[in-house]
Order: sequence, then structure tokens, then C-alpha cells
Amino acid sequence: MIRIEAVEFSYPQGEFSLSIPQMSVAQGEKVAVIGPSGSGKTTLLNLVAGIITPQRGKVSVADMEVSSSSDAKRRDFRISNIGFVFQDFGLLDYLNVLDNILHPYRITRALNLTREVQQRAIDLADGLGIGDRLKHHAGELSQGEQQRAAICRALLPQPGLILADEATGNLDPRNKGKILDLLFDSVDSSEATLLAVTHDHDLLSRFDRVIDFLDYRNEGAS
Ligand code: ADP
Ligand code: MG
Repeated sequence: MIRIEAVEFSYPQGEFSLSIPQMSVAQGEKVAVIGPSGSGKTTLLNLVAGIITPQRGKVSVADMEVSSSSDAKRRDFRISNIGFVFQDFGLLDYLNVLDNILHPYRITRALNLTREVQQRAIDLADGLGIGDRLKHHAGELSQGEQQRAAICRALLPQPGLILADEATGNLDPRNKGKILDLLFDSVDSSEATLLAVTHDHDLLSRFDRVIDFLDYRNEGAS
């Protein structure tokens, strides 16, 4: 599902650089990504999603070589095939929660907003305990509620790949378990792949495998 080969990435500004000789994640695998703050976990997710592209090497997702595709192609591919739960949620404050969850359907023709999809959005929100928040503006929600809204938005298109950046980070233990159950159920039922950054070491046993970012530290970097 994900193939990374000889990737070298650095930001135009700053010293940070990331080298990943080889990494692959099979279809249907649930992989946790761990590592200290600043080690490049979010950068990896952004490379996989094609939000950024590497200076060298290849990143492929399914049959799409993201690292060599145009901005427009990567964007369309991402919206319809990848559910991304951003570390900072990325909700639009001026939209209500339901409109945030439906937003991907309104910005690409690749997704078709039907009644069934709308109902599924409401059911997902109910399942995550934010069913009574759908008409509130995103900015009025607590951190934990915003996070759950971001998860609903990512899961709604039933993407083949789910990228979750510390998706349980702002939640109390009970909601943490619930969110992970929902993520895992959703991944299992659609045979999707999950790549999830987490700091919760007690959750790691639920994943098939763990990628530790300490392994990719760029030894040459100062
Ligand atoms: P993590 O998610 O593991 O905490 P990140 O991938 O967010 O780490 O960041 C890795 C490093 O890259 C950090 O040192 C961070 O400051 C730097 N960085 C992140 N985004 C940018 C950017 N847009 N421009 C320059 N440096 C960045
Ligand atoms: Mg991060």
C-alpha cells in the first residue's frame, strides 16, 4: 500500500532532514509510528499524503507514485483515497461541524455527496459522541471534540489509507479506547491500511507493527 524508496527530504528553511532508505506498509496493515517530538513523524505522514514531496527518492501509495505527480493529481488522489487526521485537526472554524465533516465532498468531483453519505456522517458523529454538536461551529468545540470531528471527516469517504497524527492525543482514556476501536473497526471493515502516530505506548500492542523514528535519525545532521 505504501512504498518508500531512498527518500531524502529537507524543508527549504531550517536544518531538519529525513532519510528513509526503505519503508513499506502492506495493504490492511495497522502500523504505529513512534519517536520523540521533532523526529519527523508528521513529515513522514505529509510525504505519504503527497502534501510535501521529497528532493530524492520515491513515495508510492497504492498504484500512485505520489512523489512524481503534479499538485492537482496528488490533491485529487489524497481527497478520495486518504483519510488524514491532522495533528492540529485542520477544521474550518467558520463552518459548522457537519459541514466540516462533509467538506471533502464539496471540494472534489471525485466524491459524490448523497443522502446515504449524509446519513453516514451523522451516524459516525453519533458513534463518536459528537452527534449533538453538528450544528455548532468547529471553533466552539473542545479540543477532544474537534479531534473527533476531524476523525469523522477522515473516515467518511471510507479511504483505503488512514493517516492519523496523534489522533488520540487530546482524549481522556475512555474516549481514547473508543476512538481506537472506531478507527480499527473502520479500517477492518473496509480492509484499509492504518498508519498512526501515537505517544500512547499502552496502545501499541493493538497494532500489527511499530515503526520507531529513532531508526531514521539523520546521523549526518547537526
Ligand atoms: P514530529 O511530528 O515527529 O514532532 P515534525 O515532522 O513535525 O516532527 O518535524 C520535524 C522537524 O522539522 C522539526 O525539527 C520541525 O521543527 C521541522 N519542521 C516541521 N515543519 C517545518 C517547516 N514547514 N519548515 C521548516 N521546518 C519544519
Ligand atoms: Mg508531529
